[in-house]
Amino acid sequence: MTEAILTINAGSSSLKLGLFARVGAQPLASGQAGRIGAGGRLRLSDAEGAEIPCLDHDADGISNHAEALDLAIRSMRAAYPEITVTAVGHRVVHGGVEFTGPAEITPEVMKKIEWLAPFAPLHQPHNITGIVDARAAFPDARQVACFDTAFHRTHPFVNDTFALPMEFYDKGVRRYGFHGLSYNYIAGHLAETHPDLAHGKVVVAHLGSGASICALHEGRSVASTMGFSALDGLPMGTRCGQLDPGVVLFLMQHEGMGADSIADLLYNRSGLLGLSGESNDMRNLEASGSEGAARAIDYFVFRTRRELGAMAAALGGIDALVFCGGIGENSASIREKICEHCDWMGIAVDPARNAENAPVISPDDGRVRVMVIPTNEELVIARQTRSVIYGGNERRAIYGGHRATT
Ligand code: ADP
Repeated sequence: MTEAILTINAGSSSLKLGLFARVGAQPLASGQAGRIGAGGRLRLSDAEGAEIPCLDHDADGISNHAEALDLAIRSMRAAYPEITVTAVGHRVVHGGVEFTGPAEITPEVMKKIEWLAPFAPLHQPHNITGIVDARAAFPDARQVACFDTAFHRTHPFVNDTFALPMEFYDKGVRRYGFHGLSYNYIAGHLAETHPDLAHGKVVVAHLGSGASICALHEGRSVASTMGFSALDGLPMGTRCGQLDPGVVLFLMQHEGMGADSIADLLYNRSGLLGLSGESNDMRNLEASGSEGAARAIDYFVFRTRRELGAMAAALGGIDALVFCGGIGENSASIREKICEHCDWMGIAVDPARNAENAPVISPDDGRVRVMVIPTNEELVIARQTRSVIYGGNERRAIYGGHRATT
């Protein structure tokens, strides 16, 4: 029997899985299902990236998360009969005020995760379903929650609060910040590969379907563009990003919209999709050439550049800028546009390096190191799970936060 850790990262319409040994950064196998409920299919691959056949894939695609997980587990069991999953690590979007690091999912921790669901209504329920389904599939395995918010619990008060009466802060109305597992990976990667930046001021732009920017000082998060919910900050595939709260009042008072239709507007019909009227996908917009696509790209680039400046101001300077996420890792033209007009901050991009998605895309004499680092949330989930289950030897892999005491 070989012991393994399964990582589960359940997004609103996607599921990512990783199967990791007790040590090592490379997964034994990984899987991904996108567009769940809209014809998406599950893809599994082995350590070398070769496809692992999926059992009885439904012709209509995967209809829900439970089906995706069940199919992935059965297919992995068939491909790796010698492996026993002894621990399951879950990405859990919201850990509230209390969770400052990963925690084993005891009945008490599960109650807290459920209590936090209204804080992230479009994400947390999928995470909870993943935990329930994994428990049914692996009743003897220990389950660990790895929180996206945990990495940001190091924010100073001014980046943790809104200017509301303090009773709301006490009730949990705070700037939590998200994408913490991704920022945790980047902070760890930088510490290993660029130790000279370990004490530096680094701005990390995670630009994917969801997008945010994080300001790191000495490897710890001091500010983030996402706040109370995953709506704030940058415009995203279908989410609006920063919005004057007066707009929400207007929609309620003069457009007769209720909470559900406003939530649908802000989470599902805004951002790149809303502005372009065409697509939520940056690749499609870049290929389109239409007026709507150009409008959406311009807004995305402008708001990202603006928030990049804000994060540098929060840090009082900038030593490095890191791009990650699907757009940040792959789109040379978006990176170039964002960095245009940032020379006043010392940011410059070498066109040839940028076109290659090179690890460092700034010129050798650039004052700010501009980098492209593929993020790896699955590895952070695996490492945090190992740290909870096996203790000390993986603790070095946890950056920025502290182990939870709960
Ligand atoms: P998620 O938040 O779902 O994990 P990703 O990090 O995979 O999202 O990012 C998805 C986004 O990345 C999409 O908008 C997609 O179009 C964009 N993207 C991926 N590859 C490219 C590329 N080569 N050029 C431009 N955009 C890209």
